[in-house]
Amino acid sequence: MNLPDPEPGPGEVVVNVRACGLNRLDLWLEEGGLPIPVPLPRIPGGEIGGEVAALGAGVESWRVGDRVAIQSNLFCGECEFCARGEESLCLKGLLLGVQRDGGFAEKVVVAERSLVRLPDAVDFDSAAALTLAGSTAMHMLTDRTQVRAGDWVLAIAGASGVGSAAIQIAKGLGARVIATASSQEKRELSCQLGAEHAVDSTRESWPGEVRKLTQKRGVDLVVEHVGGPVLAQAFDCLARGGTVVTCGATAGREVTLNLWPFFVKQQRLVGSYGRNRADLAKTLEWAAAGRLRAVIDRAYPLAETPLAFAQLRSRGVLGKVVIRP
Ligand SMILES: [Zn+2]
Repeated sequence: MNLPDPEPGPGEVVVNVRACGLNRLDLWLEEGGLPIPVPLPRIPGGEIGGEVAALGAGVESWRVGDRVAIQSNLFCGECEFCARGEESLCLKGLLLGVQRDGGFAEKVVVAERSLVRLPDAVDFDSAAALTLAGSTAMHMLTDRTQVRAGDWVLAIAGASGVGSAAIQIAKGLGARVIATASSQEKRELSCQLGAEHAVDSTRESWPGEVRKLTQKRGVDLVVEHVGGPVLAQAFDCLARGGTVVTCGATAGREVTLNLWPFFVKQQRLVGSYGRNRADLAKTLEWAAAGRLRAVIDRAYPLAETPLAFAQLRSRGVLGKVVIRP
């Protein structure tokens, strides 16, 4: 579809999209499955690497041609949470590609505060594979929770966008990592990324395997983003004093939790939503330093975006699918 080029308002910047990652969020949007009202028509896509193309009035921090990634939790910059850098808690937060037009397009317009500089060593495809999924994992592992060297960390769905980053970040922080994955290919990828073990998530008994691998002790942290029955299974894998951090509920939003072992073992359940600019900047620094590798299954041209949606929906993706306008 052809649309007029977006014009930047005061304090806004137009970005030429060079690559935009596809996420489960985009599938939910297409299916009408999000628990928030979405004005239509809407251009989806929230995981953007690109170059500054035009500046609105009053923009001084950016120049045309600057390489950028976009913090897709659009935030007001003024509320009490934004004031302390907790943009993911913004009272007026909006999701790029859901509540504002996103990056499956040649150009996107956002407030200048939503831009983060893209290091020269990080290419646009990698930016589009890490900006949302990688920074979500960074927020979970370094902001919402902490990892101590020697901790056991379980990364759910190790071959997914969030999972593939979580394995690498946890390993980089000194943890011993176990991943779950539903195919041999995905388990091999998880181990290439740094997991010591990858268990078969299609076997009902996989939490028992995690306990066996940790000499029945369980893991200190579970990085969970699936929800539904997987959340209860995450607790089956958890050590005393351990934490489950969760950022998604693809498999179900209502879960049952047995509170007796939860408080007796003094465990924690921590919610995580999006990321702050600081998490995105850290993610890109890790990528530039070679500590975090973008795992890209395939890049599609913009005209083949529907095929990309179908591929992600098929669950046959290793890492990320990106679109190149
Ligand atoms: Zn705010």
